[in-house]
Amino acid sequence: MTESLKVGVAGLGTVGAALIAQIVRERAMLAERCGRGIEVVAVCARARNKDRGVDLRKMKWFDDPIALAMAPGIDVFVELMGGAGNPAKAAVEAALASGKAVVTANKALLAKHGVRLAALAEKHKVALNFEAAVAGAIPIVRTVREEFAGNTIERIYGILNGTCNYILTRMEQEGLAFDECLKDAQRLGYAEADPSFDIEGHDTAQKLAILSSLAFGTKVDESAIYVEGISSIQPADIAAADELGYRVKLLGVAVRTAKGVEQRVHPTMVRKDSAIAQVMGVTNAVTIDPRGINPITLIGPGAGGMATAASVLSDVADVARGMRLPPFGRPVARLNGTSKAPMQRHEGGYYIRLLARDKPGTAAAIATRLAEQEISLESIVQRHPKGASEAETKSGAVPVILITYATTEDAVRKALAAVGRDRVISGRPQVIRIEKN
Ligand code: NAP
Repeated sequence: MTESLKVGVAGLGTVGAALIAQIVRERAMLAERCGRGIEVVAVCARARNKDRGVDLRKMKWFDDPIALAMAPGIDVFVELMGGAGNPAKAAVEAALASGKAVVTANKALLAKHGVRLAALAEKHKVALNFEAAVAGAIPIVRTVREEFAGNTIERIYGILNGTCNYILTRMEQEGLAFDECLKDAQRLGYAEADPSFDIEGHDTAQKLAILSSLAFGTKVDESAIYVEGISSIQPADIAAADELGYRVKLLGVAVRTAKGVEQRVHPTMVRKDSAIAQVMGVTNAVTIDPRGINPITLIGPGAGGMATAASVLSDVADVARGMRLPPFGRPVARLNGTSKAPMQRHEGGYYIRLLARDKPGTAAAIATRLAEQEISLESIVQRHPKGASEAETKSGAVPVILITYATTEDAVRKALAAVGRDRVISGRPQVIRIEKN
C-alpha cells in the first residue's frame, strides 16, 4: 500500500478536535477507500495543556502554526483556527508555498483572500480544498464545482446561517419577538455574545461570495454583495407572511442577470410550498437552479464539530486519493471580475407593510404613488394582522400589507418615499423581497 498521508492540523477547537477523533475512529475505512492511510502527525493550538478529548500524545506539538505549515514530513496542512487575518492567512500561504496541500473550513479567509490563495495553490500545483467553509456538512462546494461542471447555473440561493434561521423559526412557530429568540439562541450557544456578524447577514455574505464564485466563475468578492440582516423583522411580518402563504428566511442569493451577477443577502419571503421554506431551526439548505433542470435543494447541518469535520475529512480524503481541482472550478486567470449589479435594478415581487393613517384619502394617495411607479398589486390586506406591536396598535394607524407583482427596487423605493412625503403613513415602511421558487 502507498505510504500514509501525513496531516498537520492547526486549530484544535470544535472542528479540529472532532476531525482528529474521526480520523482515529475511521482509520481502517479511510485506508480502504483512499488506498492509503491518513495519519495526523502534528498539531498546533494556543493552549498546550488543554484537554481536548482526543489523544495527542503521538502527534508533534507546534506552538506556531506557520512552523507547522512548513514542517517537513507533512503532506497536508489543515487550517482550523479561523479568521481572515494572521496566523490563518500566513500559515495557509506558507503551506501552499512550501508545496503542501491545504484544507480549510475558513470562510472569512476565503471570502477575503480566496483568489490570491487559489493562485498560489495553482502556482505550486497543490490542492486548496474548502468544502466545510460553506454550509458545514452539506457537500455544496463539490456539488457546484463538480456535479454541475457541465451546466449553466442561473441562480443559487440558500439558508447559510443557522442562527438566523433558528431565530426566524422560533418567531414563526411561537409568535415571539426577535430579541427574545436571539437571547435564547445565545443561551443555547447558537449565537455569539456579539451576534451582529450573524444577524446582520455578514456570515451569510462570506459564504455566498464563495458559492457565487463557484457557480458563476467570478472572482470571490464579498464587497460586491448587498447585505441586509434580520433585526428589523417583526412578529407582524412573520404573521402576515404566514397568512399570505409565505415564510420569512434570511437568504443569500446569487443570480445571473443581463446586468451581471446580482449577489444579495436579505430577509426574503419564500412560498411555503418551496423546498427552502421547509428548512427549520439551525439547519442549512442551498438550492441550485441550473438551466434546463428543475432546482435541486441540499439540506443538512450547517455547523457543529462532527458535521463540519465530516466535510473537512472528505477534503483530506480527496488529497489522499491524489485529486486536485482548481479551487474555484476553473483556472484563476479565467475567473471574471465581479461587477456589483446595483440593487436599485433588482427585479421581483415585494412585501410592503405600511402603517396607514386613518384619514380620508390615505388609500387613494398610496394607490396613486404606486401607480406612478407602475407597480401592480397582487394583494392588499387591510386588517389588523396577528403580531402587531403595542405601539402600532396604540398609534391608531391601520396596518396595510401590500404584495406587489414583479417590479424594481428603484420603483418601490421611489413610491414609498413619495408616500412618506404625503404624510399618510406613520413610521418607516417595512419592505421584504419575495424570491420565486
Ligand atoms: P474554535 O473552536 O474557536 O477553535 C479554534 C482553534 O484555533 C482553537 O483550538 C485555538 O486554540 C486555535 N487557535 C486560535 N488562534 C490560534 C493561534 N494564534 N495559534 C494557534 N492556534 C490558534 O473554532 P471552530 O469552531 O473549531 O472553527 C474553526 C474553523 O472552522 C473556523 O474557520 C470556522 O469558521 C470554521 N467552521 C466552524 C464550524 C463550527 O460549527 N464550529 C462550522 C463551519 C466552519 P486554543 O484551543 O488553544 O484556544
